[in-house]
Amino acid sequence: MAKYLITGGAGFIGSHLTERLVNEGHDVVVVDNLVTGSVENLGNVIKEPGFEFLESDCTEPYEVAGPVDYVLHLASPASPVDFRKLPFEILKAGSDGTFIACELALEKGARFLFASTSEVYGDPDVHPQSESYRGNVKTTGPRAVYDEAKRFGEATVAAYQRYRNLDPRIVRIFNTYGPRMRPGDGRIIPNFISQALAGEPLTVYGDGDQTRSLCYVSDMVEGILRLLYSDYTRPVNIGNPDELKVTEIAKLIISKVNPELETITEPLPEDDPKRRRPDITLARQVLGWDVTVGLDEGLGKTVAWFRERIAASV
Ligand code: UDP
Repeated sequence: MAKYLITGGAGFIGSHLTERLVNEGHDVVVVDNLVTGSVENLGNVIKEPGFEFLESDCTEPYEVAGPVDYVLHLASPASPVDFRKLPFEILKAGSDGTFIACELALEKGARFLFASTSEVYGDPDVHPQSESYRGNVKTTGPRAVYDEAKRFGEATVAAYQRYRNLDPRIVRIFNTYGPRMRPGDGRIIPNFISQALAGEPLTVYGDGDQTRSLCYVSDMVEGILRLLYSDYTRPVNIGNPDELKVTEIAKLIISKVNPELETITEPLPEDDPKRRRPDITLARQVLGWDVTVGLDEGLGKTVAWFRERIAASV
């Protein structure tokens, strides 16, 4: 059994990762300031003996007693709505937060994992995106606070590896969905499902021809852990290469929730990437990882979770 420190462990992906590790009998300390995460997300683990919650901002120094085997830096607001609401928090989570987490990993002699993103590829002009692609980010655009914070984070981790002997892993997380996404976070899946369950039309931004490739959260957690335990120290994409147009995603959710529903058009956000699809050749080769939960099954589980949540709050 090992001890893990997870920043952002009360967030969407972080809480699923935390829950899996605690269920496997590991000790997990979560550092989270709850700016976008919630204690509710930790409901299944909060009373477990091996679990500890430190309500703390990862961009300010924090202390963890005793040995730590793995430090995972996941903390950051991550939705395009957050890019507008929490720009400075995002910049600091990727910069100060990464420095502090790297220092802690060095101090504890722990392996370090940085949660990076497909956003490092920006609005890609290479398709699908493999790890060797250097990206197309507009450095002063509205998405830059997130894209550049994560790029800076990767550079920080690489420097700690090169000059300070940090033992790093870098996962580039593509669009991920599942239970515990915040209904109000503005992303496509929580928006469409919340709208559909409320009997409202689904808001398609622009012509809806832009594409995304959606990975179910349990597959993402499996990919992150396989990378963490592997010997591979360069960035690895984890995501589902099954690429769909936004209009197709809307149709799928409408067919699951209520076939009578319609879509309405809203303006396309500035710099919205036109196409996104991971090349996961590396993850397949190095980690033996692949997608196991298809969109139909994953959306079914996600819709069920949103339904239960609404029922419980009435
Ligand atoms: N989108 C949409 N309607 C919504 C929310 C999102 O059409 O209510 C589109 C958005 O323009 C983008 C895609 O869905 O093309 C994915 O957006 P999301 O905010 O989930 O994440 P992104 O991949 O852009 O970071």
